[in-house]
Amino acid sequence: MPSIINHARLLGRVLRYVQIDTTAVEGANSYPSSPRQLVLGKLLADELREMGLKDVEYDAHGLVWATISATGKPKGNQPLLIVAFNAHVDTSPETTGKNVKPHVIRNYAGGDIMLAADSTKVIRVADNPELTQLVGKTLITTDGTTLLGSDDKSGVAVIMELAHTLVEHPQISHGPIRILFTCDEEIGHGVDHVDLTKLGATVCYTVDGQGAGEIDTETFSADLASITIRGINIHPSIGKGRMVNAVRAAAAFIDRLPKTGLSPETTGGREGFLHPYTIEGGVAAIKIKVLLRDFVTAELATKADLLRKAAREVVAEIPGCQIDVQISKQYRNMGEGLAEEPRAVAFAQEAFRRLKRACKLTIVRGGTDGSQLTERGLPTPNLSTGEHNPHSPLEWTCLEEMTAAVEHLVELVQVWGET
Ligand SMILES: [Zn+2]
Repeated sequence: MPSIINHARLLGRVLRYVQIDTTAVEGANSYPSSPRQLVLGKLLADELREMGLKDVEYDAHGLVWATISATGKPKGNQPLLIVAFNAHVDTSPETTGKNVKPHVIRNYAGGDIMLAADSTKVIRVADNPELTQLVGKTLITTDGTTLLGSDDKSGVAVIMELAHTLVEHPQISHGPIRILFTCDEEIGHGVDHVDLTKLGATVCYTVDGQGAGEIDTETFSADLASITIRGINIHPSIGKGRMVNAVRAAAAFIDRLPKTGLSPETTGGREGFLHPYTIEGGVAAIKIKVLLRDFVTAELATKADLLRKAAREVVAEIPGCQIDVQISKQYRNMGEGLAEEPRAVAFAQEAFRRLKRACKLTIVRGGTDGSQLTERGLPTPNLSTGEHNPHSPLEWTCLEEMTAAVEHLVELVQVWGET
């Protein structure tokens, strides 16, 4: 069956969206953190209105909300379930998103891809083995000086094209579909202003996953440890017997953390870690922040105990210093919440089955906006959208993988429409 997806229009969308600089700004005092996220949000709202979607709303926080009306009929007196799709308009601050000049490679011949404006930037097949499966396809890269922003503008384009496709094909039977575009996901504030009652959905999918054919069903559970080490500062000339150096205590503390495991540098797969990532201060006081990560939430407490044990040992070794370990909750493994609505993942798998495509269930060694939404009661797995090498100048995407993502969503809404 020929695809009903309009490839050229989908390509046009992603090229249009990535050229708007929506880099999130860490520590900004505004929401969204950068004003051009509003420019993209407004453009998306306008495009959705032009498609004829009802209740398109561009809210005070820059979030875009819209509904694709149901075409299916409810069975009996049960109302049709509402499915939501979410993508984020901001891009990572790790690489600039200013003056993105996307390069389209049609009929990719295979081999390494040297980027146009920086010959030191090469997308190598050795690092991107998935390229070997994409010979003949259409790829989109940067010129090597910026990121692409396919994370998550591929997801935005895929959801927009889903909407346009469904509007053009009212014979496709589905329930009500809610669209939600959010801001500042990359700096951990994607769902700060998401009102779940207003969204009204039974299930949501973030369309923000890498590659093709993957369903992210688990994320880390995450806590943050804030450690304050207090010493006693006094002029070094009279420090004998009086000074307590928090810098030495901090070194002793870090030295006690596991070295051959339990760190991001030494773990993969389902292994969790402790990750000291900032340290600042001086003789009088040092503050250290440590990320605690594990797929098993209960293991976070074990990791916190390791920190407390190290703190007790250092206090015993360096008399006069004080160490305070505060643990705060960040997010929880979305797998825990998804277990309560098994259809969220099962229907995504069923949609792949109907397309006669393989899919795989994957885990994310991090969090997604879906972790927070799921914890708040809205089951939200994450779906592939053709992103590769996110946050990097070597970022690229594949038009056919994006098309496949739209086709998957078209199938998925029909599966939900049958409930
Ligand atoms: Zn993303």
